[in-house]
Amino acid sequence: DKSVQDHLYFDSYSDVSIHEEMIADSVRTNAYRLGIARNAAAVRGKAVLDVGAGTGVLSVFCAQAGARKVYAVEASSIAEQAAEIVRLNAVDDRVEVIRGRLEDVELPERVDVIVSEWMGYALLHESMLNSVLVARDRWLRPGGLMLPSRAELFVAPISDLVLEERLRFWGSVKERYGVDMSCMADFARRCIMNRDIAVVPVAVEDVLSHPARFAELDLGAVTEEDLQNVRGTFCCDCFGSASVSGLCVWFAVSFPGEDKPLVLSTSPFKPETHWKQAVLYLDEPVDVVQDTRVEGEIRMFPSEESSRHICIHVDCTIGGLKMKSKTYSIPDGYS
Ligand code: SAH
Repeated sequence: DKSVQDHLYFDSYSDVSIHEEMIADSVRTNAYRLGIARNAAAVRGKAVLDVGAGTGVLSVFCAQAGARKVYAVEASSIAEQAAEIVRLNAVDDRVEVIRGRLEDVELPERVDVIVSEWMGYALLHESMLNSVLVARDRWLRPGGLMLPSRAELFVAPISDLVLEERLRFWGSVKERYGVDMSCMADFARRCIMNRDIAVVPVAVEDVLSHPARFAELDLGAVTEEDLQNVRGTFCCDCFGSASVSGLCVWFAVSFPGEDKPLVLSTSPFKPETHWKQAVLYLDEPVDVVQDTRVEGEIRMFPSEESSRHICIHVDCTIGGLKMKSKTYSIPDGYS
């Protein structure tokens, strides 16, 4: 049930490892640092709410950018470390760490800015975006600023050379040991090219077309209801001859900036982050040539068993050939 799931979810944040991974992710942490600094004019002298403060890093960034007051709300016991970090950085006069679920806390005032690092694998897995929207609707004054303010989802067809090598392996067993295991290739393919979303770094060489953006969330306006069904179409034309193993999905979030926004991208073309990319395998590889069109629709929705688990439904055609519709999810063990 939901409270047990919440308990498990918050428990995972009471350990050092997950915070180590996030703070060590310099692409992520620097993007927030710069994104907040660029919005210093909107933060200076203002009240800020940090939703899911963790170690308090974003709250300290906001204090450094001149916030008058930062409410650092954190449900897990890592809040104790946040309070210590806030003291160590001599911003405890401005940053107030509040241990509790965002949904349960009372603040003495509305805030001008909400900052949060809420993104999960494939953007929405284990996502706490719902809590951020509750925070916005309850505590952000009208016209207030969301940091980040926008999220986008992208897709591209990919080949997977490691996978192909693994499938070919069974054909080579006979040479090695005199036992023919070539029939295993089909079994291996069914085992690997299943409905699990693989969270792995995708090599640039494996990306077979320009990316297509299939969905966009305006964080000032998106509703909890919208998140029940985040969908969009895509259309990609392949660069050249290759074998398509599946689709790769990733996201970017952006912070408003004076001339151009600051973007935190998890693209395979950008430096790797701890989110890596999400790979959705077809049932079997499909050959393409230059300009073969890969198009279709992607729909993301919370799983029925657990609202924190994301499902991704894909309908697609490759060169006009309809692929089997598949609904993917992230296996347990990823948090
Ligand atoms: N802001 C920190 C931590 C991000 S991880 C950083 O950028 O490093 C997200 C954090 O939000 C976790 O520590 C988790 O426990 C917390 N969290 C998630 N949902 C929450 C909620 N509804 N109320 C309070 N804290 C929440």
